Amino acid sequence: MSRKAVLEVRELETTFFSDSGKVAAVDRISFSIHEGEILAIVGESGCGKSVTSLSIMGLVPSPPGKITNGEILLKGQDISKLSDKQMRKIRGNEIAMIFQEPMTSLNPLFTIGNQLIEAIRIHHPKWSKKEASARAVEIMKLVGLPRAEQLLKDYPHQLSGGMRQRVMIAMALVCNPKVLIADEPTTALDVTIQAQILKLMRDLNERLNTAVLLITHDLGVVAETCERVIVMYAGQIVEEAPVNEIFKNPQHPYTKGLIQSVPDMRYKKDTLYSIPGNVPKPGSILEGCRFAARCEYAFDRCLTNNPPLYESSGTHKARCFLLDMEEGGVTHVESAAES
Ligand code: SF4
Repeated sequence: MSRKAVLEVRELETTFFSDSGKVAAVDRISFSIHEGEILAIVGESGCGKSVTSLSIMGLVPSPPGKITNGEILLKGQDISKLSDKQMRKIRGNEIAMIFQEPMTSLNPLFTIGNQLIEAIRIHHPKWSKKEASARAVEIMKLVGLPRAEQLLKDYPHQLSGGMRQRVMIAMALVCNPKVLIADEPTTALDVTIQAQILKLMRDLNERLNTAVLLITHDLGVVAETCERVIVMYAGQIVEEAPVNEIFKNPQHPYTKGLIQSVPDMRYKKDTLYSIPGNVPKPGSILEGCRFAARCEYAFDRCLTNNPPLYESSGTHKARCFLLDMEEGGVTHVESAAES
């Protein structure tokens, strides 16, 4: 890909400390996202997706959490080492985030206008109220909100779920961030509104060239929206590939299970497939492949060694020993991952 990387995450480890010990919720992951790209991070709850996004935003609750290794490079600058004060300048300006449930992110006591105009003036302190108000109307129109001037006077409870999420997207885009992180942005919405919000995110990504990191558990959303996918399991990246490639040729048994779990309306089935078992508690697996207890292909080596990432093509990697046994050759892209 010839586009420039705007965000590079290198060997990121985020650890939570408690009386009973320490747990790496994100365990040395590396990836990058390019200008204008939509990249998805997929996995079940507890896989480390949201801790990854909070680490990038500098919002990991500390204590008990802390970034304990690695770098997060935003246009070459390592933002993981910045102070809270320095990060406040980055958040909103350079990287913005939209959350799953807009009602919990909007203050019910203030009008949409109050909240949007305040967000604008935090980043543009010299702007007058009139200028900020004009920008608020402009950005609300950009995200497809009708009657923008009237909506500024409304309170969050007067808006539908889809409109509230559009307001959150407007708030995130106020300063034209280079990277937009969307953490399960459509989970709380019904299906038709979900489709509208995804289309809006794709349109904005094309028009503004904003890189979007989409955190989701829903592979249907990934298929419709993204160019590239990272699959996370138990704190690690287990597969990474372009979206078409991952649906055509998934290589990790966990990815195959996730794809099989997507309901397909063309075929009537009595029961939907689900991957057996649950995501292990962070830190509970001390040796072997973290997916072994749920994997139908597990063999002896999987119980004692943690597989490295194998590269089957320049754009496709997966963390599974089965790839080491395939003819045609794969390349280790991690040197000392086996334990
Ligand atoms: Fe399954 Fe073994 Fe591959 Fe892990 S390494 S996903 S247990 S086959």
